[in-house]
Amino acid sequence: MPTECLVCRHCGATYPLRQHYSCAQCGGILEVRRTFATGDREVVLRGGRHFRRGLWKYFEMLPVADPANVVSLGEGDTPLLRDERLPDHWRRDISLLIKAESLNPTGSFKDRPTSVGLSVARELGQDTVVVSSSGNAAASTAAYAARAGMRCVVVVPESVDPGKLAQAHAHGARVLGVRGSFSNCFALARELSGRFGWTNLVSTFLNPYTVEADKTIAYELREQMDGGVPDCIFVPIGSGPLLAGVFKGYREMLALGLTRALPRMIGVQAEACEPITRAFLRGEPVRAWDGPMRTMAGGIADPLVGYEQDGDLTIRVVRESGGVMLSLSETEVAEATRLLETKVGLYSEPTGAVAVGAVKKLCDAGGMAEGETAVCLMTGHGFKYGKRDVPEMRIVETLDQACEALA
Ligand SMILES: *Cc1c(COP(=O)(O)O)cnc(C)c1O
Ligand SMILES: [Zn+2]
Repeated sequence: MPTECLVCRHCGATYPLRQHYSCAQCGGILEVRRTFATGDREVVLRGGRHFRRGLWKYFEMLPVADPANVVSLGEGDTPLLRDERLPDHWRRDISLLIKAESLNPTGSFKDRPTSVGLSVARELGQDTVVVSSSGNAAASTAAYAARAGMRCVVVVPESVDPGKLAQAHAHGARVLGVRGSFSNCFALARELSGRFGWTNLVSTFLNPYTVEADKTIAYELREQMDGGVPDCIFVPIGSGPLLAGVFKGYREMLALGLTRALPRMIGVQAEACEPITRAFLRGEPVRAWDGPMRTMAGGIADPLVGYEQDGDLTIRVVRESGGVMLSLSETEVAEATRLLETKVGLYSEPTGAVAVGAVKKLCDAGGMAEGETAVCLMTGHGFKYGKRDVPEMRIVETLDQACEALA
């Protein structure tokens, strides 16, 4: 049995695997630490003993002890699509691979952290979960809570995407709307969790268990690339757990002798809310974003008010990997979404497309060499995004009219 504990990323204090959200000594971010066990290599290579498919194939690498506590809707095992049309369009000699995380059960990668976080909550005997969310985490948590028979409270900003709100309602969650940004929701959910002891499944670094789930993307990439490692992995960044989790997966595989190299991690924000890119470029600690944040990439519009240290952690991981942070303008976000939809055939919410837009931007800046391989995490499905311009439909009654309309 491998020994697992929580360790403070700042001061190194350790805690048992219970419901903890920050270091009691220094307030630092907690991380799951587990010592490698014989058999880990095999689990990452081919899957473990308990589950045959999806994320839980890697059960032994995740912080749940009893397989009976797993709450699953079939997350993970998402396709990795090789695309040649976009590099052609950009006239760039690179290999582009797109990991379609939008094909998870509720339409975003959030199903991975939700599945693991909720399973841990069940193992700890919890009956209620709370989550603050710009939308995807709310939809995901509501669905998994329904599956687990647990109560779910979601706290969303007024500006939440109606599609994601409808999903949360459909699964029977209690929904609270809050004026202001995601950070206001974050603060209220944290207070609710503290007052009632509910498990907080927010997708920042607060819950130390959910980040572990994102490691499985790295394990899947290894398998899908026949053991190869991409040169760069492009990741949309709210606060950064997705990026940190994927890199942790690669670090583990390096330690287990399953890969020889580490990818450069490229974090992507929208210029309209880019506290992490700004700090990265200036070489300063992250400061909360206090400007307006009008962006169609709502899934990553996180001003980090009150948890700025999450951004510093993300920058540390990006630098350690030799990667960079960059941001896209609204025009670039819209263009990336359009390209993904018209040239790749993937229906995407704008947030889900920023990684693809960033490939072009990094190439233009000389950040990728000829012949290198880029993996993009396409994180959210287009079905959820309500703010689209749909042209008026032309009604035709005869073949002649149809021909005329198509001419
Ligand atoms: C939450 C979210 C992200 C950002 O992930 P973080 O781990 O919070 O940085 C990216 N894309 C989509 C679609 C999301 O919902
Ligand atoms: Zn500490």
